[in-house]
Amino acid sequence: MVLPAYEVEIGTEPLDRPARNSVGGWPHLDPGQDWPECFCGERLALFFQVDIPSDVEPFGGDHLLVFHCRAHNDPSTPQLADGRLVARYWDAPQPPHPAPFWRVLIQSREARPASEAEPSVRGLPLTLRPFTDTPEKAAQTFKVGGTPSWAQDPELYSCACGEDLVYVCQVPEDMEFAVHAGRPEQPDSVRADAYVLFLGNEVYLLACPARCDPAAVWPVNQN
Ligand SMILES: [Zn+2]
Ligand SMILES: [Zn+2]
Repeated sequence: MVLPAYEVEIGTEPLDRPARNSVGGWPHLDPGQDWPECFCGERLALFFQVDIPSDVEPFGGDHLLVFHCRAHNDPSTPQLADGRLVARYWDAPQPPHPAPFWRVLIQSREARPASEAEPSVRGLPLTLRPFTDTPEKAAQTFKVGGTPSWAQDPELYSCACGEDLVYVCQVPEDMEFAVHAGRPEQPDSVRADAYVLFLGNEVYLLACPARCDPAAVWPVNQN
């Protein structure tokens, strides 16, 4: 079965105002949702955000945001109990860390821009372009929807609430997010002026279709 898929293209014209589809920029958050922080006290960097196209089920119309700590750069490691991700896995210990160093949020179409823009990751517009992504030949690209191009065996997880997580977005291996000059460097990044997600692992975002929590999203890492 061929599922609706959108290739995500990064524009070149720096953002000068909020955009719903962006690298960096102004995070669009639901009322009452604060800009997330890492356990280390750093405000998490907004890497990117997109409105999920309406035909990408079951999240069509929702708003996806990916935050990650500048100071921490490690792979994600799933913590399981009774065959599911542990309770409140989005806040649970991520050994050796006391909590995750990232936050992936699913917000509603009512999400509104924060008053401040992401200070480190350069703000650039994103464009979602429909393309054909077949399970037999899944594209290893930055995409929303379609089929994950697993670098290893497929990895699927059940949410702590019991629902099976559903793939929604892929970020290719070693994708660089350009950073403004003078901002703190990320340890173990590829370059001084770029940040990466999860040590540059390929990232497959799996989200809870029951939306049991806005942060009920697991970032599978493979390489
Ligand atoms: Zn941190
Ligand atoms: Zn859930």
